[in-house]
Amino acid sequence: MSWRDHLREAVFGLELYRPFEYTPGLVRLDANECSFPLEREDRELMAAALGDVLVHRYPEVSGRPLREALASRWGVSPDQIILGNGSDEIISILYTAFGAGRDGRPAKALFPTPTFGTFEAAALARGMACVKVPLDGRFQLDEPALAEAMRREAPALALFATPNNPTGNRFDSAVLGRLAEGFGGVLVADEAYADFSGRTELPRVREGASFCVMKSLSKIGFAALRLGALVGPRDLIAQLDKVRLPYNVNAVSIALARALLASPARLDARIARVRAAREDLAAKLEAVGGLVVYPSDANFVLVRTPVDARGVYERMLAKGVLVRNLSRPGPLENCLRITAGTEEENDQCLEALRAAVQ
Ligand SMILES: *Cc1c(COP(=O)(O)O)cnc(C)c1O
Repeated sequence: MSWRDHLREAVFGLELYRPFEYTPGLVRLDANECSFPLEREDRELMAAALGDVLVHRYPEVSGRPLREALASRWGVSPDQIILGNGSDEIISILYTAFGAGRDGRPAKALFPTPTFGTFEAAALARGMACVKVPLDGRFQLDEPALAEAMRREAPALALFATPNNPTGNRFDSAVLGRLAEGFGGVLVADEAYADFSGRTELPRVREGASFCVMKSLSKIGFAALRLGALVGPRDLIAQLDKVRLPYNVNAVSIALARALLASPARLDARIARVRAAREDLAAKLEAVGGLVVYPSDANFVLVRTPVDARGVYERMLAKGVLVRNLSRPGPLENCLRITAGTEEENDQCLEALRAAVQ
């Protein structure tokens, strides 16, 4: 016997998440980060907040000071919020609570595809089953197929990234509302990119229902802090809170995020800037000609290249511009995902892309 005989078999089949090793000077448009660094005023606020962090003490166990700040931004109550070390950890908390299932049958997670890879990877790591329902030809929800799968498979969790990664479009809110009605599991709207769409499903969160909204601070400029949250009905949040590891969010992240949220005007201005950068990128991509440019409500744009996308990706990289190559047989064949950069970065991207598709 060895540890190999004990390891969950699915783990052997998992792929390591290994982002690109960045070199200085590279134009990084691969990870949907905010391309604009924080302003000087924000950096000064953070420096001041850092000095007050009591590093010899544990942080408040549930991140309450930050939950309060987020609750007022989102118009909900602090006890409707659970924090995660990134929304990735929220997925982990949900899967930990529901994954083992009941009566010896592992729970199922349902999601439309293509979508955020962690939905599936985190499920496989826990021995959960995945129910994947393909999006339609315009990457929108196939409502009849979803309704049928949610009824037939009775998943514990149904996850919808809206706007969706990597397709960029948001889903029809009315369809999400109808799918939630009568659903016997937890429906999670993953709003990692919702700030860039100007829409939110938060009003659907109410007591006595199971609709949840997952939030992330990563894409709006705080990726390094690793902060995510789930907003849901109090009774569900209270159960999930028992599964969450104590002190999962560290005092430095709590203090810095609070300092940054105290001046929401700069945060909102940055979000507006990113939206403008996305429009700039989309217009420039349209101008290349020959590409399919998918409409985006997020901070990135999905394009389909007329030639082998792998080659395009590599030729762009040789010119110092890194994007995400998603190409594999299926709906994302020859697709690249490009994060909105600064105007200068978008220009560099365009120049590299033009040369690469010729
Ligand atoms: C980036 C991303 C996340 C993860 O965000 P973190 O808060 O950084 O863990 C969640 N969902 C989607 C759809 C994403 O693209």
